[in-house]
Amino acid sequence: MLFCSEVPLAKLLIWVLVIIAVLFVTRLITHKKNNVRPRTDHAPTPKGAEQMVRCAHCGIYLPRSEALMSNDHTWCSLDHAKLGPRN
Ligand SMILES: [Zn+2]
Repeated sequence: MLFCSEVPLAKLLIWVLVIIAVLFVTRLITHKKNNVRPRTDHAPTPKGAEQMVRCAHCGIYLPRSEALMSNDHTWCSLDHAKLGPRN
């Protein structure tokens, strides 16, 4: 009688351990995914702020890489470069 009642208890204990192990593994996997996400989000964002330059005609500020440069002035567009500085 004692032996018969002990076996299901041992089986139950094994199942409990299996469930805990599965929960632990799934938690580890989801935790790893959460750790990976910020890295993938961080990669496409440009590093640092780009230097802003001012259009000599309209006075708009724009990134240096998008600005046109001629005659010691920066311009937002070719049209404003042709029009020249506005004073
Ligand atoms: Zn302009």
